Amino acid sequence: MYRLNLKFISILFILLFTIISSALYQQQKMSAVNEAEKRIEIFMKKWLALFHYVEVEQKEVFYQLEKEGTLTKKSYFNPKVLSFTYIARQIQEKYEENEKANGKIPYNYRIAATTPRNSVNLATEHEAEILTRFRNDEIDKFTEFLYRDSEKFYTSYTPIERTTKSCMRCHSTPDKAPTGLVERYGTEAGFGESEGVIRGMIIMEIPFSEIEKEAFNNFALTLFIIIFVFAGFFMIIKILITKDKKLLEINNELEKLSNTDMLTNIANRRYFDKKLSQQWKLMGRVKKPISLILCDIDFFKTYNDTYGHQKGDTCLALVAQAISSAVKRPNDIVARYGGEEFVIVLPDTDNNSAINIAEKIQRNVSDLNINHSASTVSPIVTLSMGISTLLVTKHNSHDTLLGFADDLLYQAKDGGRNCYKAEVTN
Ligand code: GH3
Ligand code: MG
Ligand code: MG
Repeated sequence: MYRLNLKFISILFILLFTIISSALYQQQKMSAVNEAEKRIEIFMKKWLALFHYVEVEQKEVFYQLEKEGTLTKKSYFNPKVLSFTYIARQIQEKYEENEKANGKIPYNYRIAATTPRNSVNLATEHEAEILTRFRNDEIDKFTEFLYRDSEKFYTSYTPIERTTKSCMRCHSTPDKAPTGLVERYGTEAGFGESEGVIRGMIIMEIPFSEIEKEAFNNFALTLFIIIFVFAGFFMIIKILITKDKKLLEINNELEKLSNTDMLTNIANRRYFDKKLSQQWKLMGRVKKPISLILCDIDFFKTYNDTYGHQKGDTCLALVAQAISSAVKRPNDIVARYGGEEFVIVLPDTDNNSAINIAEKIQRNVSDLNINHSASTVSPIVTLSMGISTLLVTKHNSHDTLLGFADDLLYQAKDGGRNCYKAEVTN
C-alpha cells in the first residue's frame, strides 16, 4: 500500500511536471517573440516620428522657402533635407557604427523597393516576392527568422503607406520633379509611379540570439524552482507516508502483542473471546456446525513440582506448538485458555472431524515425548480433552459450546485422563 502510494504520487508528479514545463517552454518561446515584437514597435515609433519630421515639418519649411523665391522651385533638391529614405539610412548607418563600436549586433533597418530611386534600396528576389504579396493585399504584415553572419534575426516586413498626390511630385514624371533631384538620380529611377501604390516596405531585423538566450535562462530558472518545489513536496509527502507506515506497523505490532500469549506465542484468551464470537455469528449465518476442543495437561501441578516452573514453562510452550501444528485452516483458532489449558475453535467442522484433530493433537503431544515421572496415567506428558459440536440456533450461544466442552473435559478427567470425550449437542 505504502509503495503503491509513493509510486502513484511519483507518476502524478512527473506528469504534472511534464505538463507545467512544456506549457512554460511554450510560454517562454512566445515571450521571446513578444519581446522582439515590442522592440520592433519601439523602432517603428521612432521611424514614424522621423517620417513626420521630414514629411511635415522639414519639407513644409523648404516649400515655404521656395514660395518666397528663396529657393528656385525646379532646381532645388537636397536629399539631406528632402529625402526621408536618405535621412533614415544616414541615421541607421550612424546607429550601426555606434552599436558595432560597443561590440553589439545592431538592429537592422532598411527600405526595400522593386523600383527604388537609389539602387541601395533595391529589393532582393525574396523581398520582392513579399512586396508583391503586400501589393496584392494577401498579407498586411510578415515576419520570419533569418540567419546571417552566424546570427539569428527576427525579421519583420511592414509595407509603406500607399503613394499620395504629394508623392507624385517626385515620382510621376521627371518634368514635375525638382531639377536637382533629376540631376542627382537621372530621369529613370523612381519615376513612372501612380497614386495609391505600395512603393516599398520597411525591413526590421532584430538580433534574436540574445533574446532567446535570456528567455531560455528564465525558463531554466523557473524550471529549477519548480523542480525544487516539487522535490520539497515529494520529500514532505514521503516523510508523512513513512511516518504513517511506521505508525501502522507499531499499531499492528501492538495489536499482535495484545492478542498473543507471551509464554507460548499462540493467541491469548482475549483474542480467543473476540474470534469465537465472530465465528459463532458467521456459522449462524451459513448454518454450519462449529466445534470446540478444550485441552488440559494432565497432572501439570505435579509436573511443576517435579521439574520446576521453568521446565513447566518450556513444556507449556512445546505443547502449545504441538496443538497449533495439528490445526490447518485459516479460520481455526488455537489459544491458551488459562494456566495449562488450551482451546481450539473449529468453524464449519463436525464432531467426527473435530475428533480427528483431537487425535492428531494427542499424537503430536505424544511425539514430544516429554517425561512426566509423577503422572499416574503415562510416563510422558499427556492431555485430556473435551470436544463439543453445536449448530448455532437462537437458543444457544458460544458460552453453551464452551460449557459443554468444559463438562466433557471433566468427564475425560474423571474417566482416567489421557483421553477425550466428544459429543454433538443440539
Ligand atoms: P489435572 O490433571 O486434574 O488437570 O491436574 P493439574 O495439576 O494439571 O491441574 P491443576 O489445576 O491442579 O494445576 C494446574 C497447574 O498448572 C497449577 C499451576 O502451577 C500450573 N500453571 C499454570 N500456569 C502456569 C505457567 O504459566 N507456568 C507453569 N510452569 N505452570 C503453570
Ligand atoms: Mg486445569
Ligand atoms: Mg491439568
